[in-house]
Amino acid sequence: MKFFLFLILFLFQNVHAAPASEALREQCLNGLKQFKGESDLKNLTQACSQVQVLDGCQSVEKVPIYHYEKKGVHKSQQRILVFSLIHGDEFPAGSVGRFWMERVVSIEPRNTWRIVPVLNPDGLKLKTRTNANKIDINRNFPTKDWVEKAQAYWKKDSQSNPRRFPGFNAASEPETQCAVKHIEDFKPDMIVSIHTPLKVLDFDGPSVKPPKFEYLPWKSLGHYPGSLGRYMWFERKVPVLTMELKEDLPSTNQPLVQLQDIIGFLVSLEFGKQKSAISNPK
Ligand SMILES: [Zn+2]
Repeated sequence: MKFFLFLILFLFQNVHAAPASEALREQCLNGLKQFKGESDLKNLTQACSQVQVLDGCQSVEKVPIYHYEKKGVHKSQQRILVFSLIHGDEFPAGSVGRFWMERVVSIEPRNTWRIVPVLNPDGLKLKTRTNANKIDINRNFPTKDWVEKAQAYWKKDSQSNPRRFPGFNAASEPETQCAVKHIEDFKPDMIVSIHTPLKVLDFDGPSVKPPKFEYLPWKSLGHYPGSLGRYMWFERKVPVLTMELKEDLPSTNQPLVQLQDIIGFLVSLEFGKQKSAISNPK
């Protein structure tokens, strides 16, 4: 009897610690190596050997959408979900996702980080903002106002810009469905979404004075029918930090380390108390 219990425990643990398949490891390593900027091959190799794919997470062209996760060590750890390359032509976003994987794998982070470095692999391959169905994933999230407003907003406010086409139905796209699966599976306390090229940090969350970040100024960009910010913060009260990088990456990764600390700081505070905590830093 004891033997069977051990066997079940052994199998269970191995399912959860399952290493990435050879194909997935190659996809991760070769895919992420192509991005510019500082990279540590040893850490990247280690992170890529641990990537996983949620059931059904694949693109229109059936490319697996993998993720890397590292559990936090702090007893009051929070859960941070990072999406990069929602827009396939924003290549510096891939460098940031890669660097955070490399950093998190090499430290004992306070918080639990799940990083999806390439949410839109077909757009990345085609060098398009949209996915292979020519749909903007960041206008395809199933917000409550999607049916009523998404297409009307697209026609009027973005003058039917094909780069911002929200699709014909809410959450019609497999990449959007994968992002929603991550949100339901991981239950993040905060989401970080990485983009280019507007050179700002935009926080959809409680109104607080955020810590200074030299590399990018804080600025609100607004949110739209079908956008991640509207879906998560305005409908679910999960804050979303949108990082809009410059066209070029910083010359070193130091600002990205600092930004991880700022994210950790923001997510570690109870948002109700945040205002006083920031105005009276002790
Ligand atoms: Zn973008």
